[in-house]
Amino acid sequence: MSTAGFNSQNGTGQAYANGPSQNPVGLQQLPGVSYGMTHPPTYNPMQAKAPATHDTGLYPSGPYQPVHPVSSYQPGPPLSSYPAPSGQSLLTRPLIGGPPSHTPPQSASPGPRQPLAQATPPPPAVSSSSYYPNPQQPQPMAPAWQYNTAPPPKGQPTSMSAPPRGPLPNHVNPAASSTPPPAPYSSAPSAHVSHSVTQPPGPGMPPTSLHGYTQPGPAPPPVTHTAPHAYQPSRAPYGSPPTGPPPTMKPTPPTTGSLMINATPPPPKADGTVAGNGPQAPNSYNHVDNKMAGLPQHGPPGRHLGHYPSLPPGYQNTSATQNAGPPMHPAMQAATQPYTQAPQTYQQPPGGPGPAQLSPSLAALSLQSSTPEALRVVNLLQERNLLPPSPMPAPTPCLPQDLQKINCNPEVFRSTLTSIPQTQSLLNKAKMPLGLLLHPFKDLSQLPVVTSSTIVRCRSCRTYINPFVSFLDQRRWKCNLCYRVNDVPEEFMYNPVSRSYGEPHKRPEVQNATIEFIAPSEYMLRPPQPAVYLFILDVSHNAVETGYLHVFCQSLLDNINALPGDSRTKVGFITFDSTIHFYNLQEGLSQPQMLIVSDIEDIFLPTPDSLLVNLNECKEIVQDLLKSLPNLFEKTMETQSALGSALQAAFKLLSPTGGRMSIFQTQLPNLGVGALQSREDPNQRASAKDIQHLSPATDFYKKLALDCSGQQVAVDLFLLSSQYCDLASLGCISRYSAGSVYYYPSYHHQHNPAQVECFQKDLKRYLTRKIGFEAVMRIRCTKGLSIHTFHGNFFVRSTDLLSLPNVNPDAGFAVQMSIEENLVDMQVVSFQAALLYTSSKGERRIRVHTLCLPVVNSLSDIFAGADVQAITGLLACMAVDRSTTASLSDARDAMTNAAIDSLTSFRQSVLTIQQPGLLAPACLRLFPLFILALLKQKAFRTGTSTRLDDRLFAMCQLKYQPLVYALLMIHPALYRVDDLTDEGALNINDRTIPQPRVLQLSVEKLSREAAFLMDAGTVMYLWIGRNCHPNFLTQVLGVPNYAAVPDNLYLLPELDTAESQRTRAFIGWLRDQRPFFPSMHVIRDESPLKPTFMQNMIEDRTESALSYYEFLLHLQQQISK
Ligand SMILES: [Zn+2]
Repeated sequence: MSTAGFNSQNGTGQAYANGPSQNPVGLQQLPGVSYGMTHPPTYNPMQAKAPATHDTGLYPSGPYQPVHPVSSYQPGPPLSSYPAPSGQSLLTRPLIGGPPSHTPPQSASPGPRQPLAQATPPPPAVSSSSYYPNPQQPQPMAPAWQYNTAPPPKGQPTSMSAPPRGPLPNHVNPAASSTPPPAPYSSAPSAHVSHSVTQPPGPGMPPTSLHGYTQPGPAPPPVTHTAPHAYQPSRAPYGSPPTGPPPTMKPTPPTTGSLMINATPPPPKADGTVAGNGPQAPNSYNHVDNKMAGLPQHGPPGRHLGHYPSLPPGYQNTSATQNAGPPMHPAMQAATQPYTQAPQTYQQPPGGPGPAQLSPSLAALSLQSSTPEALRVVNLLQERNLLPPSPMPAPTPCLPQDLQKINCNPEVFRSTLTSIPQTQSLLNKAKMPLGLLLHPFKDLSQLPVVTSSTIVRCRSCRTYINPFVSFLDQRRWKCNLCYRVNDVPEEFMYNPVSRSYGEPHKRPEVQNATIEFIAPSEYMLRPPQPAVYLFILDVSHNAVETGYLHVFCQSLLDNINALPGDSRTKVGFITFDSTIHFYNLQEGLSQPQMLIVSDIEDIFLPTPDSLLVNLNECKEIVQDLLKSLPNLFEKTMETQSALGSALQAAFKLLSPTGGRMSIFQTQLPNLGVGALQSREDPNQRASAKDIQHLSPATDFYKKLALDCSGQQVAVDLFLLSSQYCDLASLGCISRYSAGSVYYYPSYHHQHNPAQVECFQKDLKRYLTRKIGFEAVMRIRCTKGLSIHTFHGNFFVRSTDLLSLPNVNPDAGFAVQMSIEENLVDMQVVSFQAALLYTSSKGERRIRVHTLCLPVVNSLSDIFAGADVQAITGLLACMAVDRSTTASLSDARDAMTNAAIDSLTSFRQSVLTIQQPGLLAPACLRLFPLFILALLKQKAFRTGTSTRLDDRLFAMCQLKYQPLVYALLMIHPALYRVDDLTDEGALNINDRTIPQPRVLQLSVEKLSREAAFLMDAGTVMYLWIGRNCHPNFLTQVLGVPNYAAVPDNLYLLPELDTAESQRTRAFIGWLRDQRPFFPSMHVIRDESPLKPTFMQNMIEDRTESALSYYEFLLHLQQQISK
C-alpha cells in the first residue's frame, strides 16, 4: 500500500516553480493567522500509516505557491506605457472587395491616439513577466476593490458578549486587529472599498444620513430582554416569537421583472427601477413559497438491511441542480419541480420567521434524536445494489427547523461535512476532508435583490448581516462569525418589504441566506467598467480546415444583440497565424480595415483607439467583419501560430478597461513567445507508470494570466484541435485569470457533426450568459475555522480573497477548511461567501451566500452528517493538485487511502459491535464506488491510452465544474431507454418526462434486446443492443433494423411516435439541466467509441483496473490490517 495521503506536510513544499497549483493560502504570514508552517495538519488519512514524503500541498502548509501580499503584486503596466515602436513593418492585406484602406506609415504611427508616450522606449520587460511582485513599484492602475494595499483597519472588538476567543475573527486581516476603529466600513475586506466618504454611523456615532426617510415616530423602546451572554444564534430578540410569515411580505407589489427590493425607504427612490442583468423571476421574492416548512425528513430509525427507504442518493443529483433562470433554460425551473416535493430543506421562505426572531430551539437540537439512518451499517460486500433509483437532494444539516429552512441552497453552498467537528483532532480522527463546494454565481430563479444606501455589515469582521446573526434587542445584533455586537443602523429599522418600522429582524437581509445588494457608490473607486469583449481567432491553415470560423462568426452574428451589456459595450477582434491582424472598426468606415503586424517579437497596437469599438455605434461594421471573416483566410497556407504574441496584443488592448478575452485556438502555438513543443509520446500513453507533463512547460501563460488578472481581464480558451495542444500550459491562461476552458477534440465541420453542434450550443450559452466583471469573492467563516486551499479558476489575492476578473454562472469553486481553534462553545458555525462584481449593465453588486451548520463533538455525529457527493467532489479537486505537485500515482493512492481511512475510522470509532465484512455507514455507502470511479476517470486512470490533453481537460473540469456536473463526469448515470413509460413521469410544461431508474454501471445491466442511455455529463452515449427490439429501432431511431443504425447518429429523428417523443423528452430534459451541451453518440458493437463507453462501466473489471467487488476486497484487506 502506498503511503500517499492527502495529508499536510510542513515545510517541505517548494516555492513556485511552474506548478499549476497556486492555491494554498500558504506563506502569507499575517499576524494572528497561522497559515503555513505552523498550521495544524488537517485530515491526514495516512497519519497512522506513514507520512507522505513528497507532499507539496494538498493540505495547507506547503508553501509551493506563494500568495503574494496584496501590496506587492504588481500587474503589468497599463497600455499607456507601451509606445508604438516606430519603424515596425506593417503590411496590409485588403479585405475582400475592399481597396487597401491604409498605408503602412499611417498605421505605424496612427492618428488619434491616447496620449501615449511615443518617445518612451518600450519597457524593458513585457508586462507579462511581472508576476513576481515588485513592491517598490506602485500600482499603475488600482481598481479599488482589487488592490487595496493597506491592511484593512478593523474596529475594536468592543462589547462582545461572547467570551473572547483569540485575537479576532479569522478572516479579517489580523494586522488590523490593533487598529482603532476609525471608520466602521473602512476595513471592508471583500470590498476593498473606500467607505470613508459615506459611512453609515457606527455605534456611538450620529447617523450620517437617513436619506430622506421620515421616521415614523420615536424609535421603539428598547426591548427589555436581557442580552444573552452566551452565543445564541436564535435567541429571541423581542418577547414571544412571531409565528408564521409576516403578513406584510405578501402585499408588497411585484416589482417589474425582478426581485428587486428597494430597501431604501419609499421617498428617496422609486422601487424596482434598477434592472438586473440576470435571469429574474417576476418578483419572486414575494412568491417564494413556504412549502419547505416541513421538517427535514429522516429515514426511519433502526436498521433496514436490504433497501433504502430514504437514503440520500449517492449521486445523480443533476435534476435538481440547474435551477436556471427562465431566460436561459425555460425548462430548468420546471425541471426541478418534482424535487420540491422531496424533503428539500434549502428553499428559503422569505416570509417565514428567521431564527433571529424565533425562540431558541437549539436546546432542542439533539443529534442523538436524529435518525441513525445515515449511520445504518451497510456491509458493502453483501449489498450490491446501492444506487438510489432516483435523484435526491443533498443531505440536510441537522439544524433546528427554523434555521435549516432558511439555510443556503446546497446547490449554491455545500459542505463535505454537514456537521462540523468541534476540534481539529476530532476531524483528524474522522479522516474525512472538510471543505465547501460553491456555485456562487449560479443562475437563480429566486434571487432577492436589495437596493440600500446602507449595507449592514459587522464592524469588526465585515460579515454581511444574514439570517444567522442574533438580535440582542432591536438596536443591536451580534455577528455570527466573530460575535461582535453591532448597532443596527437607523435605516435598517425600516423594513421595505413590510413597509414597517422597528422590525430589523424581518428585513430581507435577515430572511434570505442568498441575497444580492446593489452596492452604493462607496463600493467603487472608479466607474464600473463597461462590458468589453475581445475575440482572438486562430486563422492558420489548420484553423480554417476545421471550419470553426464559420460557426463562430455565425453564432456571434446570431447573438450579437444578446451579448450582456449596455450602451457602453465594446467589442474587438484579433486574428492571428504567423502574424497578428487587427481590425479597425471605427464608426464611419465603409468597411473594416485589417491591420497586420508582422513583428511578433515586439508587438504593438497599430491604432489603439479604433480596435475596440462601441458595439451599438459600430454594429454594422462589426457585422460586416463577421460576414467576411470566414472567407478571408480561406486560401491561407500559413501553418504557424503566434498565439503568445496575439495574447500580448490583446492584453495591451484590454488593459485600460478590463474585460473578457475569448481565444479560439486550433493547434500548438509554435512561433514567438509562448511557443510550445509537443511533449506527448503516444506510445507511452498506456504503458507509462506515471504520467508526465501534467505541469505547464512554460510559465508564460501563467504570468500573462496574472497580468490579465491585475487589469481585470479574464481569458477564456476554446481549444478545437485534433492534435496535442499542451493544455497543461495553455490552460494556465484561463486558470489564473478566472476564465473558462472549452475543449473540442477532433473538431471538424464535416467529420464531426456532433462536435459542431456541441460547439454551437456552447457558444450560444457562452455569448449570452450572465457575466460579472472586475469581481472578487471573499469567504468568511466563524472564528476558529480557517480556509487553507481554494480550487477553481482564479488568483488568490489574499488569505480569503479570490480575484475574478470575470465571473460566470457556470463556474464552481471548492475550499478546504481546517479548524484552528476549538469550537467548544458553539452550537453552530457559519460560512459566508460574498461576491462583489460589476454587472454588464454597469452596476456594482454584491451577492452574499451564508451557510449555517451545526457543531458536533462525537465521531458518530460527524459521520452521520457526511455528504458523500461533496466529499468526492473535494477529493477530486485535491487529487488534481496532487497529480501535478507530486504524481498521478500518488494522487491515486491518496484517493484510495481516503476511502480506507474513513471506513477504518468508522469501524474503529463508531461501530460498537464488530461485524465481519466491509462496513460503511449508509451515508458513505457509495464512497468506495465513487473513489473507484475517480480512479477510472479520464483524469486519473492509468493503463489505457488516454491522450494527455483529454486528461488535462478532465482535470480542469473536475476543478472548475460545479459539483453536480462533476459528479456525472465521475459516475455517469445509466438508464434503460427502450421501454420508457409514463409511469412515474414528470410533467413539465405539458411535456411528459419519463423517469427511468438509474442502473449500475456494469455490463451485467446491459441487454442485447434493449437500448441504454449513459449520461456522462458532457457527453451521452446511446447504446443499442444487437437484438434491440425492432419497435425502438423504427419508432425512435427511424431505421428498419440494427444494421441500418447510422454510426454518426447524434440527433434523434423527430418522429411522430409516442416512443420517439418520450425518448427525446427525456434526453432533452437531461440536457436542459446543465449549462453546456452534451453531445450524444450512438454506440453499436462496431462503433469506434464503444471502448470509451465501456470504460465508463465502472463496476466492471478491465485489464488495468479492479472491478468494484475486487476494489471492495482490497479495501477490506487494508482496513482489517
Ligand atoms: Zn463579525
